[in-house]
Amino acid sequence: VKPKFRNFPMVPRVVFGSGCFDQLGDILMAKRKHSDAPFIFLVDDVFEGTELTSRIPRIFNDQLIFISADQEPTTKQVDVLVKRIEKDFDDLPSGIVGIGGGTLLDLSKAVAILLTNNGSASRYQGWDLVLKPALYHVGIPTISGTGAEVSRTTVLLGPEKKLGINSDYTTFDQVLLDPDLTKGVERAQWFYTGMDCFIHCIESLQGTFLNAFSQSYGEKALELCKEVFLEELNPKESRDKLMMASWHGGMSIAYSQVGVAHAMSYGLGFLLGVRHGIGNCLVFKHLNEFYPEGVALFDRMLEKHEIELPTGICANLDENELDTMISVAMGMVPLWENALGSDWRNVITPEKLACIYRKI
Ligand code: NAD
Ligand code: ZN
Repeated sequence: VKPKFRNFPMVPRVVFGSGCFDQLGDILMAKRKHSDAPFIFLVDDVFEGTELTSRIPRIFNDQLIFISADQEPTTKQVDVLVKRIEKDFDDLPSGIVGIGGGTLLDLSKAVAILLTNNGSASRYQGWDLVLKPALYHVGIPTISGTGAEVSRTTVLLGPEKKLGINSDYTTFDQVLLDPDLTKGVERAQWFYTGMDCFIHCIESLQGTFLNAFSQSYGEKALELCKEVFLEELNPKESRDKLMMASWHGGMSIAYSQVGVAHAMSYGLGFLLGVRHGIGNCLVFKHLNEFYPEGVALFDRMLEKHEIELPTGICANLDENELDTMISVAMGMVPLWENALGSDWRNVITPEKLACIYRKI
């Protein structure tokens, strides 16, 4: 029987502060099973050859694997990584450490789950299908906004669907929040991933699932986003605050849900491979009807940071392609219920979504 109240796991341990990355060695030392059980570091390949890589505390036979974040993670990629780790070592590793943005964090969570659960990652896409605890896993974000560092999901593109592995075992065992790691993020990417957080706040706070738990985190995250994107902060303050906004934004949706922008952005992601952050922005711009205040703030932020969103993304789609996108979006039932209430189908029709998609 499904319990009435959801009993959510949270990240049990977190360190925060500029330079705290250098404490990673000590944190991992306490979790090393023995000298033949390595830590596997999955690292965004933008860090290949950088100073950060030289600071990764590798000892014994620890392994460092660079991974490109150019494409969003797939179940196949997870399966390949798991096989490679199983082949390279006789013993299970001591743990997995993911260093990067949402892409690397999600991959690391999935690899940790699949090292202790049999079969392909695609088997576990859905809700609460993971039966055994994951291997110890650590998340270290290097760009702020997705909330993947706190969430109980890992979003993967599978053979049939783009869907999260949502489970109590997905959540990281340890998170390390060092705002200095976000220093090198390119401006447009900083904006798109930061807006993911802003949109989480708006969708959570304007949703029908809202409750005091979600509201308390959502309001704080929104306040921080407004400071970061509309006020004049010094760079250190801005990095610190956006990292905490991401955390609170993630906590806010844990006990509620996202809404219209995310549902429609999934459609763009599935059909066209448009990435999460930019996809949300492309859609959100046209959601004045649903989130008037949020969209007004968003427009001010775009203007202040001189971000030009690409246009004409859906210009050349035929009816079939448009229908695919619409059915992926409309399949996100809980998101629509949160956004518009249980009779959302009276408001959202395929024609209406087609009309919004055509503007993108
Ligand atoms: P990302 O991880 O895809 O990275 C975006 C770009 O920024 C990449 O090119 C990456 O190399 C670069 N980058 C990252 N850190 C950098 C740094 N310090 N310096 C320079 N470049 C850097 O971006 P994202 O927006 O954080 O993550 C998007 C992914 O997160 C999507 O796959 C999405 O599905 C997932 N996501 C997951 C959750 C969750 O709860 N699990 C929530 C939201 C989004
Ligand atoms: Zn999001």
